This record gives sequence, structure tokens and C-alpha cells, in this order.
Amino acid sequence: MKIRLNEIPENGRDYQFSKESDSALTPFLADLIHENAYKISFFIKPLNTKDFTLDGSLETQTSEQCSRCGEDFQLKISKKLREILIPEQQSERTGKYAKSPLGLAGSDEEEVSVCEYSQQQLDLGEYLHEAIAIEIPFTPYCDSCLGPDKNFYYDEKMSEEAEQTAFQKALKGLKLN
Ligand SMILES: [Zn+2]
Repeated sequence: MKIRLNEIPENGRDYQFSKESDSALTPFLADLIHENAYKISFFIKPLNTKDFTLDGSLETQTSEQCSRCGEDFQLKISKKLREILIPEQQSERTGKYAKSPLGLAGSDEEEVSVCEYSQQQLDLGEYLHEAIAIEIPFTPYCDSCLGPDKNFYYDEKMSEEAEQTAFQKALKGLKLN
């Protein structure tokens, strides 16, 4: 699944993909999102003869298992796509995707990363696969384990909460008896 960048007009072009309307992308994302739906839209516009901007959004979900309670749950992924597409840099060996640091707290921060393309084409399947994969945490927590404040950065706090929940459950159990 590739986009020919040299065919994009000067004033840019809109792209929209979803599981219902266009299943061409589905095989590229299937190992991450399985049967889940996705909604991807973006706009690519040339900056000059070789660089492009990609601006849009991605919405989908993955099936994960909570690292704390072990429940299977759907992890919602909703992110902005902001990318500058540049031709492959032969001299540098810093990896294909030089990502800017991920801001965990401020999701509204304007972050732009750079993505290299080769042979006038953006490998959309690979790019979107990477964009989704980077959003999946190593230790995913379900909504009820995350809590309303989604304050999951401190493991100590997590275990404290877990103990409290267990304690409350034990109390309830006592009352029932
Ligand atoms: Zn959980």
C-alpha cells in the first residue's frame, strides 16, 4: 500500500481510509488491531519539490490484556498524525523513522516527526503500522485500573490502589456474611 508522492498536486490531496470503505489497508494493520475498525484521514501537501507535510488523524483500537487485573479490554487509540516526509537520507543510519520524543502528559502538544520515503513513494502500510504500534504501551491498563485521573505513571501508587481495592472487597465480603 503505497502513495506516489510525485503525483500529489501542488495544493495537496486528501486521503481517507476506514475498514468499511476501503479494506486495502487492513492486511497491513491486522496483526495489531485484528478485527477492529479504524478511521484514518490525512492530507498530504508538497512543501517544495521533495518534502511534504502529512497532517491528519488516526482512530482505532487494539485488543489488549490488562497488566494489572488480567482482563481483556479494547485499548482506544486516537492520535494526530503530523509528519514531514523527506527523501531517504543515504548518509544517515539513524533508522527509518526518527521520532520526536513522545509527550505522555501533554497530548495536545504539537509534535511533528520526520518520516523518510524512498523512490517517490510513501509506504503507507508501514507508516501507519508504526504509528499504531508506538501507541501501545508495554504494560497496558484497562479503564478501571487506570482510574478516572489516568495517573498510571507511578507503580507505587498503583499497588497502593490495588491493595485498597482488595481491602474494600474483603470488607464487602465480611458484610455479606
Ligand atoms: Zn485492569
